Amino acid sequence: MKKVLVTSRSFGKVSDEPLNILKEAGLEVTLMGADFDEEKFKAAVVEYDALIIGAHKFYPEDMAKCEKLQIICKHGAGLDNIYLDEAKAQGVRVTNVPAMNANAVADLAVAHMLNVCRGVSLCSANVKSGQWKTYIGKDMYHKTLGLIGFGNIAKNVARRAHGFSMDVIAYDPYVKEIPEEFKEYVRLGTLDEVIENGDFVSIHVPLTEETRDMFNKESMGRMKEGAYLINTGRGGIVNEADLYEAVKSGHLGGAALDVTASEPIEADNPLLTLDNVVITPHIGMYSFEAINAVSVVCAKNVVKQLAG
Ligand code: NAD
Repeated sequence: MKKVLVTSRSFGKVSDEPLNILKEAGLEVTLMGADFDEEKFKAAVVEYDALIIGAHKFYPEDMAKCEKLQIICKHGAGLDNIYLDEAKAQGVRVTNVPAMNANAVADLAVAHMLNVCRGVSLCSANVKSGQWKTYIGKDMYHKTLGLIGFGNIAKNVARRAHGFSMDVIAYDPYVKEIPEEFKEYVRLGTLDEVIENGDFVSIHVPLTEETRDMFNKESMGRMKEGAYLINTGRGGIVNEADLYEAVKSGHLGGAALDVTASEPIEADNPLLTLDNVVITPHIGMYSFEAINAVSVVCAKNVVKQLAG
């Protein structure tokens, strides 16, 4: 019997459908996501034919020991935790599920924008601690949104931003022309234009050598006074020490992060001390609809590979 190891925390979390797809294909499934332990994973993975992987790294030296492994399915879009060249050299197929979480992540990015510009989390925490204090925020309506990247998620953020009559500028050197649907309210710009004009700047690129530390002291220093930085992309794209200074000094109006350099974030990270920095625990794709759709695609990819 062929064996499937699942290390994603959310695979099959909202329905039995994905697990049933694997079981009905006669596959033995081990779920390791809920209490993931790196050492246990390294020892166990050598026995498996397929891996449905979460966000943790799968190092080449560990993959090299997996003689049976045929396929690694990323339970999500970002492939930055998988060593693609080494997988290819070893003959292991790698798949991801790019577009299906785009609505969920775009919803969260917009929720973060509204939250941080109106102080929603802060006001709620104040009220719960007995402080009925006012908070004067800013409108999102008619503001300029700078998008870093113009892929699946950014496009869905743009669609939502249009509902707020926002002017959208996107920086994506790999996109040569704005698709017809977006021409009315999105234009392509340089990185400088996006950084310098965005009242909100929202990050939707993968973590690569090009994007690592893209938001640092210098680039954040060029953002508009009072602008908000939203990162639902990857930790590592924003330099957290520089972000702390940019918000603490009052240059930026605030920031919202769904992703951080270290996950979970270290308990002594100074960003945790700032009222106008909102942090969520990498929940971008955690909607019922997205988790189920992504899980089903992963299960089908595994079945297709192992049956072939
Ligand atoms: P996508 O591949 O559809 O879009 C990424 C875009 O980034 C592409 O258009 C690409 O051309 C562009 N890009 C690449 N390098 C760039 C650079 N140096 N400068 C500017 N643009 C660049 O991916 P997507 O589905 O939109 O996801 C975007 C990212 O969001 C993923 O890579 C992942 O890191 C992150 N993500 C986070 C969550 C979450 O839970 N918070 C969930 C899914 C994806």
